[in-house]
Amino acid sequence: MSDIKANLQEVQSLINKAEAQAGRSNDSVKLMAVSKFHPKEAVEEAIACGQLLFGENRVQEAVQKFTPILAANPKVELHIIGQLQTNKVKQAVTIAASIDSVDRLDLLKEIEKQCAKLDKTIKVLFEYHTGEESKAGFTSEEALIEALEACKRGDFPHIIPSGFMTMAPFTQDQELIHKSFITLRTLAQKLKEQYPQFPLKELSMGMSGDFEAAIQQGSTMVRVGTAIFGQRNY
Ligand SMILES: *Cc1c(COP(=O)(O)O)cnc(C)c1O
Repeated sequence: MSDIKANLQEVQSLINKAEAQAGRSNDSVKLMAVSKFHPKEAVEEAIACGQLLFGENRVQEAVQKFTPILAANPKVELHIIGQLQTNKVKQAVTIAASIDSVDRLDLLKEIEKQCAKLDKTIKVLFEYHTGEESKAGFTSEEALIEALEACKRGDFPHIIPSGFMTMAPFTQDQELIHKSFITLRTLAQKLKEQYPQFPLKELSMGMSGDFEAAIQQGSTMVRVGTAIFGQRNY
């Protein structure tokens, strides 16, 4: 058995165990395979094992790798999960089903503009800054609410606000990691009540090193790279 196949099975079984421990059902957490820095062949191998949900950080790399993959596998769903420059949005929306790293109102405006041109509807997650070290994401609740208010006004008819994403700090301190996930879950609960018109049900949190903690704290989607594809050669 290949490493990728064995790794996918191992990660899935750890996810199921964490779901059970948290008293959650066995299909409550989606596994996103993060394939950045790994070749197209690795993605194809994962697809052959039944993996359909993928995440990529960089638009250029994602377009090269996934344009042929999506053409050959219509059921594959790609999410962009890395910081997105405005001038890369046009390319990103051609391949992505979701932009999970929305961190500013201006980005929503550009996503709307480019999706309108393609007559395409796209999902987005709002990335929120909860860890000390990561710089990504909205850094204030006010800025995030400003973005949601613009959605509520109907400014972005081609965008479906679908939930939230965060990155925990890179630390061994379990308490800090949990604290970061709890911050996002608490904020998401509040905003879900405040904006019932949107399906804000996704909580994308947890990576190779901390997905079990994230599941314990309510994650609905874990983003796992290294534990599936091995170390990245930057
Ligand atoms: C690279 C990356 C991941 C996957 O990280 P691993 O530690 O390799 O599992 C998850 N989320 C984001 C935003 C990433 O950039």
